[in-house]
Amino acid sequence: MRILVVEDERELAGLLNGALERAGFAVDGATSCASALDYLRVATYDVAVLDLGLPDGDGMSLLRHLRKDGSALPVLILTARDAPEDRVLGLNAGADDYLVKPFHMPELVARLRALLRRPNAALGVTLTLGNLLLDTSTRQVQVDGVDVSLSVRETSMLELLLRQQGTVVTRAVMEQRLYSFDVQLGSNALEVLVHRLRRRLQDVGATVGIHTLRGVGYLLSEAR
Ligand code: CA
Repeated sequence: MRILVVEDERELAGLLNGALERAGFAVDGATSCASALDYLRVATYDVAVLDLGLPDGDGMSLLRHLRKDGSALPVLILTARDAPEDRVLGLNAGADDYLVKPFHMPELVARLRALLRRPNAALGVTLTLGNLLLDTSTRQVQVDGVDVSLSVRETSMLELLLRQQGTVVTRAVMEQRLYSFDVQLGSNALEVLVHRLRRRLQDVGATVGIHTLRGVGYLLSEAR
């Protein structure tokens, strides 16, 4: 899942980006309203974290602008403004959640995962197909009830395929959702990742298959 983090405090932004990457997000970081708008114009995000006090304006106006434009992007406001009336303002401006600094990183990650579970974004906490199960809050994968260890990126790819099981996930969508702009993507990076994930799933006896549609994308379905 791809996330845009709008935060101008360098140290906090670094902490956020690191923690969110470890939690399986592809993270792009913007440090102003203008750069956030640039990112939003060229990429599709699953969720965003928005600071309010930004060097070139207020995150709240950015949010109002987005909603006026018809954007349904789930947004969590992360701010030091802790007055109840500020929360009301934020939620009324179109925020989906509001967290006050200082905050507990696992709570932020849990709230973002909860936003991703909402209709439109996804279904429940666990995604299943055949004997395969992925718990989207703990990031644990199981085959026949037995834990399977996958890398962060393999888990993210599996999550994406499970969310769209039975339909083709195009290469473009996969690149968009799994990699931030910071990652220099080699021409065969996706193939390598799919190959590793497919072999890993075979090794542990998963009853699902990742099918390659050459030049188009990938499809996850139950093996028969
Ligand atoms: Ca700030």
